[in-house]
Amino acid sequence: MEMKPHRAVNYRAELVGVFGYPVSENPTGVMQEAAFRELDLNWRYLTIEVEPEELADAFVGLKAFKMRGINLTIPHKVAVLPFLDEISAEARLMGAVNTVYREGNKLIGENTDGKGFMTALRTDASIDPAGKRVVLIGAGGAARAIATELALAKAKTLTIINRSPERGKSLVELLENRIGVDAHFTPWQEKHSIPPDTDILVNSTSIGLFPDIEESPDINYESIHSGMVVCDVIPNPPKTPFLRKADKRGAMTLDGLGMLVYQGAIGFRIWTGYEAPVRVMRQALEKEFAE
Ligand code: NDP
Repeated sequence: MEMKPHRAVNYRAELVGVFGYPVSENPTGVMQEAAFRELDLNWRYLTIEVEPEELADAFVGLKAFKMRGINLTIPHKVAVLPFLDEISAEARLMGAVNTVYREGNKLIGENTDGKGFMTALRTDASIDPAGKRVVLIGAGGAARAIATELALAKAKTLTIINRSPERGKSLVELLENRIGVDAHFTPWQEKHSIPPDTDILVNSTSIGLFPDIEESPDINYESIHSGMVVCDVIPNPPKTPFLRKADKRGAMTLDGLGMLVYQGAIGFRIWTGYEAPVRVMRQALEKEFAE
């Protein structure tokens, strides 16, 4: 009987994923798995439910399985910090980590949310934020990540409009005292007008996210003009009422799906060492959200 020639096989997959609670509606696996298939990589992205009090055990498991990295989503982005050996300067400033990768036995924390936004701004809108006047609506985790990156990229001024003054002022404090950018908090008024000299306007609240797809921030949309770039963090649906109204005013718009794809692409590159197939990743998510 003729034997098959010997060849080295490796059925072991490299593992990454996300810890969250709840996590079942997190769509990141769809785009990362599409990227692994596109590059023919034997990698898997696992969507893992981890309750807050089990995060320490989850990290023991991550190390035992030799996972290559992990994303963190609600409620673990801040709670993860004690489990890391190193934290990037930006993630340290924001006080939150959404991507962990392994270098030898070290676990290193990074935050790609704001960097994904910056890539969308630079790549898809050809905008350099240096010297720009920015207005951010919202002061939660997404706003902190975006504002930090914009400040580090030398935006001229950052104005934060937020419903709760505590969170708005805390973000301004971070921007002014720790990064040294000119930042202001403005309490959110009814039909809030956006200053005419604004270059970049960002909705970084969760208003407009599925299933509340008819909702939009209460601002005076007449105050938006064609000289502004208007951005939304909401990935699903990508075309929010906020962006539609800005579109009607003649402004250039950037959706939150781009930010989501680019932040995932940064994670993909950190983990695998390969450039991410961003077009394939975006198409995978568009198809997912359309169903
Ligand atoms: P947080 O809970 O940390 O912050 C939510 C923000 O929205 C706060 O500023 C909150 O104001 C404000 N807000 C919520 N509802 C209302 C309302 N009805 N009226 C006024 N203000 C409101 O959430 P995150 O910052 O983590 O996430 C925000 C959004 O960003 C989510 O929809 C998420 O999907 C999206 N996101 C998108 C990413 C992407 O890659 N595209 C990445 C990360 C997040 P207050 O402080 O007053 O409560």
